Amino acid sequence: MAGHEFAEVALIYDLHTHSNASDGILSPADLVSRASARGVTHLALTDHDTVQGLQSARTQAEQEGLTLLNGVEFSCLWSGYGIHVVGLNINPESPSLDAALTAQQLARSDRAEEIGAKLAKLGVEGAYEGARALAGEGVIGRPHFARYMVDQGYSANINSAFKQYLGAGRAGDVKQRWPDIASMVAAITASGGVAVLAHPVKYELTRTKLRLLISSFKDAGGQAIEVVSGQQPVNETRTLADMARLFDLYASCGSDFHTPGQPWQELGSFTPLPQSCRPVWQLWH
Ligand code: AMP
Ligand code: MN
Ligand code: MN
Ligand code: MN
Repeated sequence: MAGHEFAEVALIYDLHTHSNASDGILSPADLVSRASARGVTHLALTDHDTVQGLQSARTQAEQEGLTLLNGVEFSCLWSGYGIHVVGLNINPESPSLDAALTAQQLARSDRAEEIGAKLAKLGVEGAYEGARALAGEGVIGRPHFARYMVDQGYSANINSAFKQYLGAGRAGDVKQRWPDIASMVAAITASGGVAVLAHPVKYELTRTKLRLLISSFKDAGGQAIEVVSGQQPVNETRTLADMARLFDLYASCGSDFHTPGQPWQELGSFTPLPQSCRPVWQLWH
């Protein structure tokens, strides 16, 4: 008797991506199409401090037969470090989320003016206006400043703009306006979402501090950490899988895609979660 054989359908989850609603290059619809073409079956759009792109992403996802998750990536502070927390399966209409988004967008505008003023003192002219124009309707961030500085010849490329002007410890690294991590986690969970600690390796913390960060994140109600963020060394994946187990957290994975042409952050292009991990999607299946 036939009928007991099921085709194995590979599910590919990419739960961390950006469109031009924040600092990505593609429109939300183009992002969805690219993800679909690359075999992603479950995609979260997680723009910085905005949910503006979700609606058009959803329309496109329905056409492509791809499952779209509502997401966001919040900037916040922990112990003086700028930390990112992703919210997955959030309700974009929830009042607590809306309040957090409004506050973040205001903070980003004020911060952008401050960054522009600081860059002006370093001899970079018109940076605020230039970055603002590049951000268009989207939420403004340091990458828009970086693009402006490359366009105007102040920096050779995006990476050196961050090294010289915008990265950790540089003039444009303004982060004191962000709320603390606990209130961000609370806003996500109050909206029905799952709070995920984004790319824990990127903060360049010592092992001890990383444990402290994960511990306060968990105490605040955080439920998962990104064990896989883009293409990363296997030892990092192992360390983070160990951390997830140690703190009894679910594991997430995503490319952190921003733009085509960066193979280390390409849609769906990363190793699967280690077997030892509990994937975060177990929370909603
Ligand atoms: P912001 O949200 O304004 O704090 O800017 C942070 C964003 O800048 C990150 O989400 C990345 O997209 C980007 N970024 C940070 N560091 C670098 C870097 N070294 N090179 C290129 N992009 C970077
Ligand atoms: Mn970004
Ligand atoms: Mn981030
Ligand atoms: Mn991101």
